[in-house]
Amino acid sequence: MKIFVVNTGSSSLKYQLIEMNGEEVISKGLVERIGTEGSSMTYHVKGEKRKIEKTIPNHTDAIKLVFETLKEDRVLTDISEIDAVGHRVVHAGEKYSGSVLITEDVVNALDECSFFAPLHNPPNIKGIRACQEVMPDVPMVGVFDTAFHQTMPDYSYMYALPYELYEKYRVRRYGFHGTSHRYVSQVAMELLGKKESKIISCHLGNGASVCAVLNGKSIDTSMGHTPTGGLIMGTRCGDVDPALIPILENVEGLSAKQIDDIMNKKSGMLGVSGISNDFRDLENAFHEGNRRAKLALEMFDYRLKKFIGAYTIAMGGLDALVFTAGIGENDYETRYEACKGMEFMGLYLDVEKNKSVRGELAEISLPESKVKVYVIPTNEELMIARDTLEIVKSIQAVKA
Ligand code: ADP
Repeated sequence: MKIFVVNTGSSSLKYQLIEMNGEEVISKGLVERIGTEGSSMTYHVKGEKRKIEKTIPNHTDAIKLVFETLKEDRVLTDISEIDAVGHRVVHAGEKYSGSVLITEDVVNALDECSFFAPLHNPPNIKGIRACQEVMPDVPMVGVFDTAFHQTMPDYSYMYALPYELYEKYRVRRYGFHGTSHRYVSQVAMELLGKKESKIISCHLGNGASVCAVLNGKSIDTSMGHTPTGGLIMGTRCGDVDPALIPILENVEGLSAKQIDDIMNKKSGMLGVSGISNDFRDLENAFHEGNRRAKLALEMFDYRLKKFIGAYTIAMGGLDALVFTAGIGENDYETRYEACKGMEFMGLYLDVEKNKSVRGELAEISLPESKVKVYVIPTNEELMIARDTLEIVKSIQAVKA
């Protein structure tokens, strides 16, 4: 069975074609600058990386180009060989706590959730529409970033704002990166050999979040109503005193839009260091003695440690700490700093092993460590494909 996994942004479309028999990625690629000048498609096929530069006016044309290319490369003889499509959708509000078969009702519900994620849901819906146009008879499944966190209890997801704001606008914490946290925590449970477990998953990329996974379920996560909350990120501030917003309005004369821009695009590691949002640049600058790069890194590590501490207490202990995404998978210095001084709770990092691990699945704690520490490369596309397969199979079973 072949599953096509799609992740659309406002001007981009990422895809993977996965043969589920063996879970092999047959082709993957990225269409960029859709609808603007300089659009292109970069893709990997048969071990080669290729690039096509041409005008791509909209997402439907992007999908058509992907399929033309797959046919030219003889990866597919016909589109009808695609059995199902899995779509990554950012926000499903309180509507869906798991992946679902996409119907008109589902698209309408996701459209309503555009209120929560105005930058993400509209392009995700465009991607669904584009695929429906090109493959009208192929079943499609929506997999949501927020869904995994729908198991958070109310005392964890509510803000201490007037309750009417929740009733009127569903103002609450939703959390994101759910597909990634779900994937890596599943792998961690397999490694631990038990589902009854206390796991903290640290998804540390340009966007970053921590998740407390108790017995396979998310009970807390660091991002909030939007992805701006929680950890310090590449360009996002994470948690700040909310009363700073009216203060900034007054002292700097900034509009809500300008403050939003500052907090999402000009803050975080970039804002503090004044150098870069990329940890590689920051660590180079730190080793050359740059004071603000050092400060940004120390702030990041300290905030991360506080979340790990809080979630360990919230779960009443910890079986495994997991690192994933760009920084989590590659940056041994951040992993070292996060694990430093945790011997009191039975966490012993294998310092030498940690240094050598980059982008691969590994246990980086010492054998005697009560708390296991894992590096688990995330694979959101595979998780989307697995959900899609499961839902499509269950529908076929009902029909049979
Ligand atoms: P996102 O998907 O949120 O854009 P990624 O998970 O791809 O982010 O992570 C990107 C970040 O990972 C980069 O900005 C950089 O900070 C960090 N990163 C990637 N490779 C390395 C590395 N070898 N060492 C340290 N940090 C790295």
